[in-house]
Amino acid sequence: MAANGKSMLIDTTKCFACRSCQVACKQWNELAAESPVPTNRGTYENPPDLSATQWLLIHFKETERADGSMAWNFARNSCRHCIDAPCKQVTNNADSITVDADTGAVLHNAGTESESFNAIRSACPFDIPRKDADGRSRKCRMCIDRITNGEVPSCAKACPSDAITFGDRDDILAMADARVTAVQGEFPNATVLDRDAVRLLILLGDPASSYKLQTAPA
Ligand code: SF4
Repeated sequence: MAANGKSMLIDTTKCFACRSCQVACKQWNELAAESPVPTNRGTYENPPDLSATQWLLIHFKETERADGSMAWNFARNSCRHCIDAPCKQVTNNADSITVDADTGAVLHNAGTESESFNAIRSACPFDIPRKDADGRSRKCRMCIDRITNGEVPSCAKACPSDAITFGDRDDILAMADARVTAVQGEFPNATVLDRDAVRLLILLGDPASSYKLQTAPA
């Protein structure tokens, strides 16, 4: 792998939940609209969950901070592209789940339909993979087809608030750490989730319990 591969920083302190990233993901990957059409559940969060055709979802959560102020927090859910991916560890076919040599992207390929999807999904600490009609595991592919053509992932391209940054892992790690320091005044609990274990680095301003997001077991 070239150096340490690639990573992406999701800075939730900059995200205002416009969901341009959600739309861009659907558009670039030619993913069908959710069916049946989701109904209003009294929240802006839509659709309610990931699916075989919904690889990226912005979750919403309202909480009260210790000082009594209200937090309306947004967090992106999608494959974290784990460094030592648990999903790959349970595959029985070396080609069904691969790790891209240049980026480190974890790719679920044609071939996962021959395996126990339940084993793949259960192995994921973030409950990401979803099964399609052919029994195949589907999830974010880091827009590998864009990266290999010199482009950034579609979500990073679409974000109007610079909340998503893609690049060399070492640069992204340094950026994440610097950003945690920079926002300490407003967010003393700022942290980067699973910093050393994943390529999708999610920076949270408030404690993780203030977000609707599955975190890796401690
Ligand atoms: Fe695999 Fe889940 Fe990690 Fe993605 S987040 S690489 S699906 S274990």
